[in-house]
Amino acid sequence: MPSILCLIDDKHVPLYRVMWVSAVPHFCGAEDCLCEGLYEVRLEQDESVWAKREERDRLLEAIEHWQGGLDVDEEDWE
Ligand SMILES: [Zn+2]
Repeated sequence: MPSILCLIDDKHVPLYRVMWVSAVPHFCGAEDCLCEGLYEVRLEQDESVWAKREERDRLLEAIEHWQGGLDVDEEDWE
């Protein structure tokens, strides 16, 4: 059964909350930036989580899989 949750930066993020996923790693030049080299995953309500490259790749795969699986019986999703 496909999961609608994806683990990003220690958070289980529901795929349906993802608005977009960055194609390039974050860089802003700030010395104290903790997100540099990470990929921004934008969620609803102006929230963001920061994914490592592998996490982002897994997330994209999960989203594609999830969208392709819309014919899954909804009763199996609980
Ligand atoms: Zn930054």
